[in-house]
Amino acid sequence: MIGLDETCLSPHLGPAQRDHTRLDWRASYGMPERVRPVAWTCACRATVYELCEGGGQGFIRRITQLDGDHRVDESHRWSITETRAIWTALLSGRAR
Ligand SMILES: [Zn+2]
Repeated sequence: MIGLDETCLSPHLGPAQRDHTRLDWRASYGMPERVRPVAWTCACRATVYELCEGGGQGFIRRITQLDGDHRVDESHRWSITETRAIWTALLSGRAR
């Protein structure tokens, strides 16, 4: 489900499955946080997802690239373990 083509180094999301879990996205407040992206999807797609971790918690950041602009949304915060499980589900189309 996760494809890599000749020019892309990061994973692409698989198509969302019909019964996929719908994550609750909210606009990022842009607050400075001690978080760092530890994984991300390929920037060749209009929507890029980042797995962010910091302070013992994790969340997923969704960046939607628009014409000359972009919009940033963030998921809930979870434990690192939960966030990594949700990240795997996101990549495989079981969550979006
Ligand atoms: Zn790509």
